[in-house]
Amino acid sequence: MSDPTVVTGADERALLARIPTALYLDGAWRSASSGRTFTVTDPATGLPLAEVADATPADGEAALAAAHRAQREWGSTAPRERAEILRRAFETVRARTEDFALAMTLEMGKPLAESRGEVAYGAEFLRWFSEQAPRIAGRYSTAPDGGSRLLVLKRPAGPCLLITPWNFPLAMATRKIAPAIAAGCTMVLKPAALTPLTALLLTQVLEEAGLPPGVLNVIPTTSAGRVTGPLIRDPRLRKLSFTGSTEVGRRLIADSADQVLRVSMELGGNAPFLVFEDADIPAAVSGAILAKMRNGGEACVAANRFLVHESIAEEFTAGFLQRMRAFTPLRGTDPRSTVGPLVDEGTREKVSSLVEGAVAEGATVALGGRSIAGPGYFYQPTVLTDVPPGARILDEEIFGPVAPITTFSTESEALALANGTPFGLVAFAYTTDLRRALRLGEELETGMLGINTGVVSNPAAPFGGVKQSGLGREGGLEGIEEYLETRYVGIADPFPAPEDR
Ligand code: NAP
Repeated sequence: MSDPTVVTGADERALLARIPTALYLDGAWRSASSGRTFTVTDPATGLPLAEVADATPADGEAALAAAHRAQREWGSTAPRERAEILRRAFETVRARTEDFALAMTLEMGKPLAESRGEVAYGAEFLRWFSEQAPRIAGRYSTAPDGGSRLLVLKRPAGPCLLITPWNFPLAMATRKIAPAIAAGCTMVLKPAALTPLTALLLTQVLEEAGLPPGVLNVIPTTSAGRVTGPLIRDPRLRKLSFTGSTEVGRRLIADSADQVLRVSMELGGNAPFLVFEDADIPAAVSGAILAKMRNGGEACVAANRFLVHESIAEEFTAGFLQRMRAFTPLRGTDPRSTVGPLVDEGTREKVSSLVEGAVAEGATVALGGRSIAGPGYFYQPTVLTDVPPGARILDEEIFGPVAPITTFSTESEALALANGTPFGLVAFAYTTDLRRALRLGEELETGMLGINTGVVSNPAAPFGGVKQSGLGREGGLEGIEEYLETRYVGIADPFPAPEDR
């Protein structure tokens, strides 16, 4: 019997034929108003995969108009109804794991095993928020002077614009769509132009799960700014949720000021990975591999700077190098692949220039350090040692399979290095000293901290950053709050005094 997890060219063609390539507006699949399409390519081969409708500003306007029309009725549906749509979508995404995994591997490049991991993670937001929808609650209390009653309500924020990046094409979409559905908001989704296919497949699943027309409208486009700019300035839009680079996020926050639009921003990171002298070194090596190489390093939570105590740096580096050497860069559909290509040539050029810059600044290449010739945008798994403080590679998000290692001698030096960045998304620390771990939890300037683990993302936990890594949280109990408004109703003493009864 053939192995269902081994992909053939025929499987790829059959899947691509099933994924919609049109815009999704007001419950209907439509061509772009210009009739134009754009090409989605496979980063492992550089070859075209599909032609997708390229939304225009007029299509963006139609999407917002549909979301605005649908808002009132959708916002008053029973929470259980919204929950059950999410639950059905969760079951379908899980049942179609192989389709979603292959779509992501084809358009984004990661190995199929990692794409399956993202399906499990991304689907979980549908289940988690299906469980949150019926738990939206307010409160009722007596004013301190006893003269009135205070009623606090939660209402849907209203039509939302959701803008997602290419690196986690499913999970970044479900992390926004699921809480918006649970809260009773309607949406316009603009997926990344590099990876629209997964979002379109998810849209089809949500349609089949019973999402009413107008609630979710999807507008892939190659003109992100021209299409979303007018929506951000439109008073019908009530909320913007963006995941992407700090540079674009900063511009969107400025644009949102005109309408005083509510914003959630999941932006770039520069995660430090700290290994203290009391760490379990084999565990730290395993955690480092996960924190660095998950998604080929193309993750906002990827470890960007390895800060290792000088007394154990040699042992840690030797173990880490051994594991980094074992990676096999191949097209993600090949079962032997353990790391895929970078997403495009621009990303690969940036990684190359950071590595070349670090070497010019005094770093030593202990492994890799070059692009891989041939089709696709592959880059060698790379380890740099003796990276001097102040090197550009320590200040910028690498977004590739490159690990710069530096050393420290005291905890306060490690903290100063870790916090010496405008970013503050996540940090990782390996230590067996409980007091140190708790101290780090208070003193590291990040929204998230992994202690003795290389992965922190969990749909049940609040994901997000401090400083220039963002505003707001996704997932956890906090995630739905981003899509709810708090309203307060003051009620004049509603009960007659006892003598009037
Ligand atoms: P990006 O260039 O900022 O793009 C993100 C999204 O914004 C894409 O859909 C993009 O559309 C769109 N966009 C670009 N310019 C825009 C504009 N002027 N107006 C409106 N939308 C615009 O980021 P990326 O390269 O796709 O993703 C990588 C970045 O995302 C990294 O910095 C990473 O750290 C961050 N990220 C953060 C998190 C988090 O949760 N904190 C999670 C994942 C990724 P196009 O596709 O058309 O360019």
